[in-house]
Amino acid sequence: MSENDPSDNRLNPLRRAIDNIDSQIVSLLSNRQKQVNRIVAVKKEYNLPVYHPAREEDLISARRQQAADAELDPDFVEEIYRIIMRRSRIEQTGKMADASVRPGATVLIVGGRGEMGRYFASRFSDAGYIVRILDRDDWDRADALCEGIDLAVISVPIDVTVRTIEDIGPLLPKDAVLTDITSIKKTPAEAMKRAHEGPALGLHPLFGPTTSSLDKQIIVSTPVRDEAACRWVTEQLSAWGSIIVPSTPEEHDEIMAIVQSLRHFATFAIGRFMEQKKVPIKRTLAFSSPIYRLEMGMVGRLFAQDPALYAEIIFASDSRRKLLKDYIESLGQTMDMVENGDREAFVAEFRRISAWFGPFGEQAIRESSFLIDKLIERF
Ligand code: NAD
Repeated sequence: MSENDPSDNRLNPLRRAIDNIDSQIVSLLSNRQKQVNRIVAVKKEYNLPVYHPAREEDLISARRQQAADAELDPDFVEEIYRIIMRRSRIEQTGKMADASVRPGATVLIVGGRGEMGRYFASRFSDAGYIVRILDRDDWDRADALCEGIDLAVISVPIDVTVRTIEDIGPLLPKDAVLTDITSIKKTPAEAMKRAHEGPALGLHPLFGPTTSSLDKQIIVSTPVRDEAACRWVTEQLSAWGSIIVPSTPEEHDEIMAIVQSLRHFATFAIGRFMEQKKVPIKRTLAFSSPIYRLEMGMVGRLFAQDPALYAEIIFASDSRRKLLKDYIESLGQTMDMVENGDREAFVAEFRRISAWFGPFGEQAIRESSFLIDKLIERF
């Protein structure tokens, strides 16, 4: 193109106008961030959580409406805002890391040299708590380590959690909060009640130690005794960005059997079957529908992690084993339909189950379509 190309003459001022708008967008984002920083200061002062779902949904609705009025696609504007808000929460969470609900309190992490123990030890320590560690070889100093503590977090493997609670309980100051983070809650809750007469609380973080930010990470909380005295612990976790979901130990265990045990068992079984059949994974991915790719993402992800953790979850209790047997029985019934060539029964069963899922079907289509679109966009 020559210097005096007529199209350039017309395009250049338009491009400059776009550059100018883009530069204003970045300045506005910077201004927005400064306001967020002011909010962090206030939230820190009042120990308020980073995540405020109602505020975020109001903001999205208002911007969607504005987009529609301005003849922009509301979904496009919502996507941009979801990114801005997540970024903002991560920034806030980072700045809240040193926010302490109980400045100067002492926290003992039992199993503090393990993965989750180290994770929480550094969180508490960054927030200015005094952190002590009691691991497997430190029991001869247990009395001294327990002296004057405000919180004991049991972060040992599931199979020694109850025994550890029983061992530590009698050594704790009466008003110290006792909590555990294991992935079953009923038997540890019973043990805490027996072993410690002070405040106690079950916690289950639904994330692993590689999580970089606590932003929107869920922690199930199951109060055991004296909820009021335990509140500062959950307030601390929400100040770091996590979402606390209150439950009972019974409800937690029932739901987790489905969310973790059944889910991981089924994923393990598919991976195992693929290995037995020596499926050429790479080649299948070249032929894959997006949903297969998504599914294989979940299967591959499981086998890239620590087997002990999954064994712990799947083998956790008799009731979990019973649930998995029921699942296998149900698989057998489904296979019978296939074996008998009973398409009608299959279709009738499909319709019945679809009615049972009800409005969740629409939500599932919406959420999985979002993931599939992202997958296609990126890979
Ligand atoms: P880990 O094996 O990495 O750590 C366990 C620690 O406990 C080790 O340092 C070990 O030496 C110590 N320990 C064992 N027996 C002990 C005893 N009798 N006294 C004191 N210390 C003892 O395990 P982890 O992944 O950190 O898991 C710890 C707990 O967190 C488990 O109950 C698990 O269910 C729960 N959890 C783990 C995850 C995860 O993704 N890793 C997520 C949520 C909850």
